[in-house]
Amino acid sequence: MTGRCPRCGNPEVQSSRARGAVETFARLLGFPPRRCTACGWRGLRPRVIFDARKASKPGIPQVELPPAPPPPPSPAELEKRRRHRHRHHIKTQKRQALQAVVIALVLGVGAGIIVYSCAQ
Ligand SMILES: [Zn+2]
Repeated sequence: MTGRCPRCGNPEVQSSRARGAVETFARLLGFPPRRCTACGWRGLRPRVIFDARKASKPGIPQVELPPAPPPPPSPAELEKRRRHRHRHHIKTQKRQALQAVVIALVLGVGAGIIVYSCAQ
């Protein structure tokens, strides 16, 4: 048995006020009611295990640490990214050149049509 919430695994399981005779009796036997601060789970858990767990980790808050930030990229990874960016840059340049050609063609054809129709 652990000190974590059996439903969601949250370590923040607090002592709860005993409700009714059964829980009061259980508390007197060393099974106080506990309540999970995250999901609201409530149940009887032995005092010994919970308090021993807390005492074994002095000063360490019973809260999950946020995930560590990703490590800085290696030089190989940076080179890969740089090459990728470079390829992307070339692709963009090619696309822009193609667009320029298409625009020039459309304008040229348009101008040709206008000139042709005016010449009639
Ligand atoms: Zn929970």
